[in-house]
Amino acid sequence: MRKKFYALILTSALAISMMACGGNSGAGTTSDVPSESDSEAHLVEELATISTTEASTEATTEEYGTGNMIKGGDFSDGLGEWVSYVNGGACELLVNDQGEMQVDIEKIGSVEHGVQIYYDGFSLRKGGIYNISFDIHSTLERPLEWRCQLNGGDYHAYAKGVISPNSEVMHISQEFSMEEDTDPAPRLCFNMGLVADLKDQGITELPPHSIMIDNVELVVVDATNMIKDPEPVKAPLVKVNQVGYTPEATKTAIFSKLDAADNRFMVKDKATGDTVFVGDIKDETVCNDCVEHVFYGDFTELKTPGTYTVMTIGGAESYEFTIAEDVYDESLNAITKMLYYQRCGMELTSEYAGDFAHPACHKEEGTVFGTDKKLDVSGGWHDAGDYGKYVVAGAKAVADIMLAYEKRPDAFSDASGIPESGNGMADILDEAKYELDWMLKMQDSETGGVYHKVSGELFPETVMPQDETAELIICPISTTATGDFAAVMAMAARVFKDVDATYSATCLDAAKKAYDYLKKNGYDTAGFSNPGNVVTGQYGDSTDKDERFFAMAELYKTTGDTSYQDDIKALYDDGKPQVNALGWAGVGGYAAYEYLTTEGADEGLKGQIKEEYMKAIDENIESSGKSGYLCAVTTKYPWGSNMTVANAGMMFLFADEIEADEKYGKLAQAQLDYLLGVNGTGYCFVTGMGTQYPENPHHRPSQVLGKAVPGMLVGGPNSALEDPYAKAVLANKPSALCYADNNQSYSCNEITIYWNSPLIYLMAMEK
Ligand SMILES: [Zn+2]
Repeated sequence: MRKKFYALILTSALAISMMACGGNSGAGTTSDVPSESDSEAHLVEELATISTTEASTEATTEEYGTGNMIKGGDFSDGLGEWVSYVNGGACELLVNDQGEMQVDIEKIGSVEHGVQIYYDGFSLRKGGIYNISFDIHSTLERPLEWRCQLNGGDYHAYAKGVISPNSEVMHISQEFSMEEDTDPAPRLCFNMGLVADLKDQGITELPPHSIMIDNVELVVVDATNMIKDPEPVKAPLVKVNQVGYTPEATKTAIFSKLDAADNRFMVKDKATGDTVFVGDIKDETVCNDCVEHVFYGDFTELKTPGTYTVMTIGGAESYEFTIAEDVYDESLNAITKMLYYQRCGMELTSEYAGDFAHPACHKEEGTVFGTDKKLDVSGGWHDAGDYGKYVVAGAKAVADIMLAYEKRPDAFSDASGIPESGNGMADILDEAKYELDWMLKMQDSETGGVYHKVSGELFPETVMPQDETAELIICPISTTATGDFAAVMAMAARVFKDVDATYSATCLDAAKKAYDYLKKNGYDTAGFSNPGNVVTGQYGDSTDKDERFFAMAELYKTTGDTSYQDDIKALYDDGKPQVNALGWAGVGGYAAYEYLTTEGADEGLKGQIKEEYMKAIDENIESSGKSGYLCAVTTKYPWGSNMTVANAGMMFLFADEIEADEKYGKLAQAQLDYLLGVNGTGYCFVTGMGTQYPENPHHRPSQVLGKAVPGMLVGGPNSALEDPYAKAVLANKPSALCYADNNQSYSCNEITIYWNSPLIYLMAMEK
């Protein structure tokens, strides 16, 4: 903190953007994240806290900011939450001997945020009048910009000002009113790159210089007209699968917050209003993850097709749902067509993509990192909300859908509305081939090794894919990518054998070539790391043992060549790989399942692998028992928890094939039910599906077009609160309720190809 006399300088008039920001926040509850203890007294206390807090929604300055909202703005305790970001620029951020924040700028880059210093962790309420102030000086007189802005999407400013600091300390003080919807998680930043005023002067670069900032304050000046928070989206007290059930499915409604007299439920026909089924509400259970008591109602016996709701005698009611033989037909098409919308390198025409049509993207050749080598790596699916393409992630996704087809070919049609529909091959295989064709381009023709990923250096701005024009960098070969590649190509050789023998042979050749690379290159214990300045999804992995096992198991299953089995034995002699996961990192679950379902495989080795595999299944069963909503995630909800749930559903179905037991089918159905509405949040987690679904996914095309692509499974609850928006609005929520339908919340509400893919598997099997 620096004390000095200052000249008072007011910044020029504010620019307040009138664009709406999609906020749906709430002040929320003040209960703590539940402990692992299931103490009844503790729960009663928690419930009491929640209900009192929910009653008070008056906007007060106590709630919406007292004192300086920028914590540590005088830098007396170091940098605190201040962070530097560069996009083409270069800088170093520190606190200097005078106690000021100092930014040593080496290079400003070519955009305004080429060098940016930012702070997250405050809120701006609609109707509030605020004042921002700070002290600033610079070793070089130059213009820069301060902004209070939306932290995501188009990052538009709520308030901003341009200043030109020089060697004299300036005190900047600016009042502004928040005219847009309340933003619980905006960003305060200083753009120190190539700002507009420099561009206007024809300046493109600046010599190295330092900018010093101190005493940053943001205070509420007047809260009189602040708008209170909107009511948070309320989950219904009765949860059902919002898509519905096949007639023979296990059907369980889960009830919450009922009074003791509410001990019966009715299923009502929507068309006639008739009660068609009556059952008991029972088995009261404490759900620590949601901090509530839950109860269960079984209506499996209701098999008559129709559209219904479940009601209690006290009047609580579920969203409507359908019972029908073909209940999942449309939904399965939608969650599969999501992959078509993710296609890279081809035009999506309005005939197939409707409002989401766009020209071909990422057509230019990529450059192999650290070389001049150019390669055509067009095609494949964009990974997620960004436009990177990552082999290990793509391998999981394509494996899931090929396994789904292999097991239930009749579940997929050749008429789902993609360009290849009607070509005589199921659309799911056309979709798989689109990704496999890209993966083939990622294989080095000389060594057989497979490049790990291709993307720009940075994550793209919120633009349509054809507008991301940064140079494509092909990252080095990794053994994890090569192992996964060998596995899915061997799988493809099997799956495509009867529909396209030539393609099948191509895939098998590629698999063998990749496998040779693995044989020549030993275990990788360091794992892949992003090279140079590449910051896009790393998809690193501490071991490649499970990828090698996956490759061996698929090659063995497809070819019957026992040398691959010998290699599995040798791998096990070196210490057994983990077989408990179906992820992009852990793929041992696939390997184990494939080996255990290969006819003629070694019984001794099978016994050993089966024991390990069933141990992993038992852990999932235990988790499902602990969670009130019967899902295989409990206590802590990780990033992408919905994938963990969908993967658990797949694991249960695999287990049923290995050791038939009807409990596995029920457990798999419970995972599907959870994803489609039977969870504490009340959301059906797939865009456009059911009654209450995510509308603001973190997905660039959806954000740009202001409309969510349908059929995308979002990440779901994440109790680690791994983005500023989640930190701001979910801080005191129970773990299973740490979910926000907001496109700024990339740790809750992003989408990926490999979250949809296990859902495709699960739904195809239940169909
Ligand atoms: Zn693309």
